[in-house]
Amino acid sequence: MIPEEIKNTFITYLKQNAHRITNERFLILDAALDMKFHFDADELYLQMKNNYINVSRATVYKTLELMNECNILTKHNFKGDRTRYETKIGRNHHYHIMCITCKKIIEFEYPEIEKINKKVCKANNLTMVDHTMQVFAKCENPGKCKHNANNYN
Ligand SMILES: [Zn+2]
Ligand SMILES: [Zn+2]
Repeated sequence: MIPEEIKNTFITYLKQNAHRITNERFLILDAALDMKFHFDADELYLQMKNNYINVSRATVYKTLELMNECNILTKHNFKGDRTRYETKIGRNHHYHIMCITCKKIIEFEYPEIEKINKKVCKANNLTMVDHTMQVFAKCENPGKCKHNANNYN
């Protein structure tokens, strides 16, 4: 079930930008909101396929972009790693640290960062509309890293 408010945000966005409103898009929205943590388009596509929901891969890619544009999802590109999305619904603003060895992603919140960014914007006569922070790090002992597997996300 897609919350009514989110559905309306999406419909309004699609209308305003002359995108077709199709049932497929809502199936993809529903599936995307169910995804935990960070996911890429192919993972969502496979997840839907496993649940016998038939949509084309191209439509999944396109619809994720639209959901990013209307602020339902956040899109991440971690140092050239595959493009990943995550839902913004019910999430606090947070930042990411990625281990460059095992690609594990840690999330953290730190409201001071937002304050500093706003302050710098203001000092330059700007109003902040969004901000992100990505930190890249490495495991202390990559060989023994328990996350050093392929099923990270
Ligand atoms: Zn690591
Ligand atoms: Zn995140």
